[in-house]
Amino acid sequence: MTKAIITDRLTKHYGETQALIDLDLEVELGEVFGFLGPNGAGKTTMIRTILDLIYPTYGTATLLGKDSHQFAVELRNHVGYLPGDLELYPTLTGRETLTYFANLRGGVDWTYVDHLADRLDSDLTKKVRDLSSGNKQKVGLIQAFMNKPDLLILDEPSSGLDPLVQQEFQAMLREIAAEGRTVFLSSHTLSEVERVADRVAIIRHGRLVVVERIDNLKTKAIRRLDMEFGEPVSASLFESIDGVRNVEADTTRVSVSYEGAMKDLLHVAMGHDLINLESVEADLEEIFLTYYRDTES
Ligand code: ATP
Repeated sequence: MTKAIITDRLTKHYGETQALIDLDLEVELGEVFGFLGPNGAGKTTMIRTILDLIYPTYGTATLLGKDSHQFAVELRNHVGYLPGDLELYPTLTGRETLTYFANLRGGVDWTYVDHLADRLDSDLTKKVRDLSSGNKQKVGLIQAFMNKPDLLILDEPSSGLDPLVQQEFQAMLREIAAEGRTVFLSSHTLSEVERVADRVAIIRHGRLVVVERIDNLKTKAIRRLDMEFGEPVSASLFESIDGVRNVEADTTRVSVSYEGAMKDLLHVAMGHDLINLESVEADLEEIFLTYYRDTES
């Protein structure tokens, strides 16, 4: 086995809707891989297709070296999955829910389950109907993690998690990758995956736009920097800096869009009594528009 996931021209049509078109993707063993795209881009369709929950129109998927359709049953023991539209029985407690999933699959180490619950700050004694959406999501995450799968597929996993839990969750994903296991997580925001993913794929309208190491994507991203100075400054100071564009200056406040590393920009700003600065991340759509406007839409 050399790859965690390989898709070969994976395509899914729902009637007239082409949800996934000729997707060729390879995910390495032991990496955290982010699968990014706006709502409706085809992320859930891709995940459900490679899990053999729906059938491709054509194309194939190979998970952990095995054809995902032919070896679907065997693969279930090695793949953990958190669906985007998680449905749990409202009258069961978290622990009963996990027991239910454990009975379906077998072989769960309950000490490990308690350890996961502890790290995610999940109270497994409460009934699902009494849990907030974030706390339900934690039960879903534990369910996906608890068999120590070789491949973990998570569809929009951070929804509803508070920032502290999200941090812990991301640390857990890094630990899984360090053990040589693989994490595939879909998201519609770069910010959700940028701290944790090694590489990301971006899809738009069912097509793969780019696969990029996250560090490359981050240096390519257009960001906005809002600065406040203790003295009036002129726009011309910033206009000639490499990578800077759209400079807006209003006496002591300057706003710029920039591309690439911040070093030169900060160097100039620091020379002028800088009292405050705020960096606003480019959203995914901005990155699409800026870098992939030449690709087919
Ligand atoms: P989201 O983040 O909103 O879930 P997504 O990237 O996961 O978006 P998909 O849910 O895969 O996107 O949807 C891709 C396209 O396929 C959309 O145009 C959607 O309307 C369509 N689609 C998805 N499921 C079905 C279905 N069962 N029948 C018909 N069309 C569908």
